[in-house]
Order: sequence, then C-alpha cells, then structure tokens
Amino acid sequence: MTVATGSDNSGRLHVVYRYVDAGPAPPASSDATSRVMRRTRRSGTAPEIALRRALHRRGLRFLVDVAAPGTNRRRRVDVLLRGARIALFIDGCFWHSCPEHGRVPKRNHDWWQVKLYGVVVRDRDTDAQLSSAGWLVVRVWEHDDPEEAADRIAALVRARRAKAPNPRTLGAGG
Ligand SMILES: [Zn+2]
Repeated sequence: MTVATGSDNSGRLHVVYRYVDAGPAPPASSDATSRVMRRTRRSGTAPEIALRRALHRRGLRFLVDVAAPGTNRRRRVDVLLRGARIALFIDGCFWHSCPEHGRVPKRNHDWWQVKLYGVVVRDRDTDAQLSSAGWLVVRVWEHDDPEEAADRIAALVRARRAKAPNPRTLGAGG
C-alpha cells in the first residue's frame, strides 16, 4: 500500500491512493478466517438491516447500496439520504478494523494485514470523494446501538435540511 501525491488536470495537488492488492486469499478451510469470510456479505447484514429499520421508523427514506451522485460509481454507499446529502456506512468490525473488536487473524497474518489495511485506506479515499462532492459521511460500527445511531442520524438530517438552500432559488441545473 502506498499513498502518494499527484496532480489532476486542474493542477491541484491531491492525494492518490494506490491500492496494492494483497493477492489471492490464502487457503483458509478450517480456521476462524473462513468462518468470517463466509459470514461476510457486501450488503444487508443484520446490523445494517436493524439500523435501516430504525431510520425508517423515524420517517426517514433512503436508497440502499447505491453510488452517490458525483462520485466514483464503484464506491457504493450503504444508505444514501439524498435530500440531506448524507452518505451512511455501517462498517463491520472485522473488515473495517474497529478499534474495539478489529484484529488481524494469526494465520496468514501478513496477508490479512495488507488486506485489512487496504480496506481502511479505501474507506478514507471514499470519504474524501464523498466530502468533496458535498456529501456528509457518517460511519456507524456494526457494534453501535441502532436506535442511538438512528437518533443521531435523524438529528443530522433535520439540521442539514434546515440549512439547505431552497432548490427553487438556485439557478438551473441545481
Ligand atoms: Zn466493533
């Protein structure tokens, strides 16, 4: 994994994240690693569904597993609250290296270290892309209480809506 600076066509300096592939997954037929990998799904995990339900009960409506307008279409957002321009992620403790529960598996340790570090670098790059396109990035850990998280997000939505300019007063295209 390397992080380098470069410049785009506008001449602005920006950070370039170079993804160094950890290579093919090591054989993990009988250890905890394979159980983790089997359990992992890209979208619709139990903590994510619990939070989505909690948001729904608070009257919030959103898109699920979509790219945010103005950003790389391959970076999908778990929950997109379009009106408030909030991009919400529910990060799994293992894959996103939660400070409380994240750990590098002992078996194939070096491979996992590169792999998991790559996920974090990619997350920060996704955050930067979203922020520069005007989205507020909110990340919730899978271990967070879904009701508390939903309260926090509902408050952010209210605050962002109150601040947002009326689109009708903006020029065409908005
Ligand atoms: Zn955790």
